[in-house]
Amino acid sequence: MIVGFGVDVLEIVRVDLKLANKVLTKDELENRAKIDEEYIAGRFALKEAYFKALGTGIDGNSFQDVSFLNGPFGEVCPVLHKYIPPVHGVFNRMHASLAHDRFAYASVILEKERGGIYIGLGSNLGDRLANLRSALGEISEFCNILNVTKVYESKPYGKTDQPDFLNCVVEVDTDLPPLELLKVLLDVERSMGRIRTEKWGPRVIDLDILFYGNLVIRTPELVVPHYDFENRIFFVLPMRELNAHLVHPALKASMERLYQELLSRTFGEDVGIEVYGDV
Ligand code: ADP
Ligand code: MG
Repeated sequence: MIVGFGVDVLEIVRVDLKLANKVLTKDELENRAKIDEEYIAGRFALKEAYFKALGTGIDGNSFQDVSFLNGPFGEVCPVLHKYIPPVHGVFNRMHASLAHDRFAYASVILEKERGGIYIGLGSNLGDRLANLRSALGEISEFCNILNVTKVYESKPYGKTDQPDFLNCVVEVDTDLPPLELLKVLLDVERSMGRIRTEKWGPRVIDLDILFYGNLVIRTPELVVPHYDFENRIFFVLPMRELNAHLVHPALKASMERLYQELLSRTFGEDVGIEVYGDV
């Protein structure tokens, strides 16, 4: 369902290069070799269109809350540095488009699609299967669980001198904004007795947000899609089981392709993951 739509237009000659630092984020400044009037006008129009789609306008918000980067195929790639709730509803998908001649023309669509939010679960301490099950029970208190993958067993990743992991992925539907969702997941980790000691150390339960619709989110507390998704077979294989055609919104590659790429990087060695059973 579309929850917001905004357009904006701006004459490029009206743009002053001095606006660059106000309008552009650090990511946008780094995304372009030469910052010219056309680039600034495009970002300005896209941001105005986005705030119109949210229904909030620019008041109380900042041009620094969102980046619109140019993708490899000339497409516009939005990156949220802050999730601003729309005046009406919530969104988990965003689409942006830009054209220019004398003017920069921008449009932004915000959508709420049922589901499309994926959480990775992992455990390698205690009764691992029981831990996955009780985490699912807790998650179902605040999310609608739409799909659960099989449980996979794999060798520890990163720090290898620790017990093997059980992992699965769930698709959920929720109206919780991304950071609120992260907060409740961290609460579940804590309530299940996870103590954060070493990075990548053993854990009763680890809950990671893999995807939040097609949104690309980069904030100090939360990076979505998960920053290391494509390198972790225990994320990629279950996601492929759920939806092989789903496209990673930052890498623009399907789950099938990411799986094949991971396989090709093992040079014929065992990828080290097996189906363990059902939750
Ligand atoms: P890892 O899952 O990489 O082993 P931790 O679970 O210890 O590491 O790290 C959790 C921290 O990572 C959280 O406090 C959270 O702020 C941050 N984080 C960033 N992006 C995500 C994400 N997509 N899902 C979960 N946590 C994330
Ligand atoms: Mg985690």
